[in-house]
Amino acid sequence: MLKPQPRVTPLNRPFWDGCNDGKLMVQHCDECGKHVFYPRACCPFCQADALSWTQASGQGTVISHTTVRRTHHDGFNEEAPYVFAAVELAEGPCLYAQLPGAPVEGESLIGRSVRAVFVPHGPGQKIAAFQLT
Ligand SMILES: [Zn+2]
Repeated sequence: MLKPQPRVTPLNRPFWDGCNDGKLMVQHCDECGKHVFYPRACCPFCQADALSWTQASGQGTVISHTTVRRTHHDGFNEEAPYVFAAVELAEGPCLYAQLPGAPVEGESLIGRSVRAVFVPHGPGQKIAAFQLT
């Protein structure tokens, strides 16, 4: 079954195109210098509308995680059980994503280093995930 697909808009297209190109794209505020994710029209820190796109390092740290055993959509059933995590990027923003290959039980992953990978998500679309380093 097809997974729910992203709704690509002019605002978030650089992120989704980046996933397909193997690049983790985030916004950067040209006014205050902070990185921003999810895509927005103005900076959540200083409200400037001077946001530009930049490639993040893809390095991050797990700040929380859970094991998904019963999925919210049948399109994810073949992957369950899997680890779903909140990852703080080295640049600051937090993303929620799967951790393919991570152990689904037995140990805390909080504080572990991860790097971004891009996995197939649907026809012509990849999505960001993270692997333990
Ligand atoms: Zn700002």
